[in-house]
Amino acid sequence: METTLTLSSDSEDDDVTPPPAKRRSIEGVPKSFDGDKKARFSFGVSSRISEDVADSDDVEFRSTSLLKTPVSLRRRSISMSCMTPRDPSKRINEPPANQICSGFVRNEDDDDVAMREEEERDAEKETDLNLRALLSPEKKKRKEKITEVQNEFYGVYCLISRSDRPCYKNRCYIGYTVDPNRRIMQHNGGRFKGGAKKTDSRGPWDMVCVVHGFPNHVAALRFEWAWQNPTVSKTLKEKNLKKERKETPFAYQLRIACQLMNSDTFCRFALTFRWLITKEELPFPTSCPPPEHIKLKYGKVKKEMSLVPAKREDYVEMGECRLCGNDIEKVWSLVRCISDTCHSHFHSKCLAAHGLKRKNEYTEHIFPLKATCPTCGHFFLWGDVIREQRRIIKISTKCAEEFRNLVVRKDLQLIN
Ligand SMILES: [Zn+2]
Ligand SMILES: [Zn+2]
Repeated sequence: METTLTLSSDSEDDDVTPPPAKRRSIEGVPKSFDGDKKARFSFGVSSRISEDVADSDDVEFRSTSLLKTPVSLRRRSISMSCMTPRDPSKRINEPPANQICSGFVRNEDDDDVAMREEEERDAEKETDLNLRALLSPEKKKRKEKITEVQNEFYGVYCLISRSDRPCYKNRCYIGYTVDPNRRIMQHNGGRFKGGAKKTDSRGPWDMVCVVHGFPNHVAALRFEWAWQNPTVSKTLKEKNLKKERKETPFAYQLRIACQLMNSDTFCRFALTFRWLITKEELPFPTSCPPPEHIKLKYGKVKKEMSLVPAKREDYVEMGECRLCGNDIEKVWSLVRCISDTCHSHFHSKCLAAHGLKRKNEYTEHIFPLKATCPTCGHFFLWGDVIREQRRIIKISTKCAEEFRNLVVRKDLQLIN
C-alpha cells in the first residue's frame, strides 16, 4: 500500500490549505489523507523545523481543530511552534501521535466522535489560553468619564532668591504659571525638574506673590513680559521705571507690578494680588497703589474644580436674554448674573453694552470694568462674569452630549 502523509508548513500567512509548494510527503501515512481538509492534520511545523523533517522523527503534531483558531492567533503559531520543546514528552497540548492518527479512522462510532470533539474543544480552549498568554494584551478602549474640570488659572509670580552666594541673594525672577504650587517645585528642583535656566543653581527660591485673574493666557503672558522688561515695554516705557539705590530688588519689582495694574492695558481686568508668603508682605508704594477693584488675598493658591454633572436635573435651559428678550442659542454667547439668588441669563454683548452705557464708556471700550445686574441690581466686575462664563463653557464641552445646550445649575459651585 502506498503511504504518504502531507505536511503543511505553518507560514506567516497560513490558511486552511497551504500552497502545494509547501507540502512535503513522507512515508508511513495513507495518501488518501492528502488534500482532505477534514481528515488532514497539520503538523504545525515551522518552516525552520520542516527543513530537516525528512530525516528526523521530531515533528510537531497539531490537530485540525487548531486550524479553526482565529487568524490573529494562528499568525503567531510560528513563534509558538518554534518555542515548543523538541522532546515530545514535554510538549504542551499535544496528544500522542498515535491518538491523533486513531482519531482519523472514519468508521468510529458516535460516542467516540462526540468524545473526541469535546477533547478537541478542550484542547483548543487551552491552546487559546496558552497562546493568549504569549500575546501582547489587547488595548482596552477606555472611555474616560469626566466628572470634574479644573477652573482656569493664569498667574504671574515673583520669586526671591535665598541663595548663600552674594551675587544671587535677593535676586528676583518673574514668571507665568497655571499652577504656582507645581511651578515653585520645578524652580527649586533645577532645570531637570522643569525649572528655568535663569533660576537653576541660583536658589533656593521663595515664591512671594502672584497676580492672577487674567481672562486668558495671552493677557497673562503680556503682563509677565511687561513686568520683566519695564524699560522696553510699550505699557511702561514712558514711566521710566528704574531701581532706586535704597530700594531692595523685590521692592522695585512690587513697584513695577503696581504700575502695570494701573496701566491702560491692565487696569480693566478683574485681577487679584496675592501674597503667597504672608510674612514677606510689603506696603504698596503710596504713589501708585493697586486700583480699587483689585482684590487682595493671602496664602496658597488652591486648585479649584467644577463638577461636571451627569444628571439632567443639574442643568437649566439657557432661556432668553433678560435685556433684549431674544433666545440665547449658544452657550458661548451666554453670561449670567453672579449673584447666588439671581437666575438671569443675558447675551454677553447685551450685558456689556448695558454696563458701558451706564458708565458712559460706550465709545472707548468694548466691555465695562464693572456694572450692576439689570434684574437684581447686584454689583459685579466684568472679569468675574467672564470667568464664570468660561467655567460654564468648559463644563458644557465635557458633559454628556445631551446636556451640551444646557447650563450647569448655579448652586453646583466649586469643589476644593
Ligand atoms: Zn440679549
Ligand atoms: Zn442679577
